[in-house]
Amino acid sequence: MPDIASIGAALASIKTATDIAKLIKESGTSLEQAEIKLQVADLISSLADAKIELAELQTEMNQLKDKLNQRAALKWVKPYYMIQSGDEVEGPFCPSCYDNNEKMIRLQGSGRNGWSCLTCEGFYKDSEYVQPPPIRVSR
Ligand SMILES: [Zn+2]
Repeated sequence: MPDIASIGAALASIKTATDIAKLIKESGTSLEQAEIKLQVADLISSLADAKIELAELQTEMNQLKDKLNQRAALKWVKPYYMIQSGDEVEGPFCPSCYDNNEKMIRLQGSGRNGWSCLTCEGFYKDSEYVQPPPIRVSR
């Protein structure tokens, strides 16, 4: 998976490509045809590297954007997570799997008045959950 170093690699490839282009431009007719072809091949290679690195970064950024959107839609409805998108509510999702690995594992109704996670084997009883009383501040 690409990381912040990929940005440096992409910038280095672009700098190399720019340097080669400048060399070709400034050399005028002093370079032999074979040398020009070699320089242009290096230029194309550097641009191809930069293109690949930037495409990887674009994929990474899209994944991060999806994660941020998912996190914004995620609601803690004790004892599990639900996803709310407009009027639609999805879930419940395992709190243990999400809190440990950010994995969205759908809980399964177990028939025991609760929900089971088939990944971590957690069991969550929603019927036992009682909203705590509001904290009263005396003045
Ligand atoms: Zn789980």
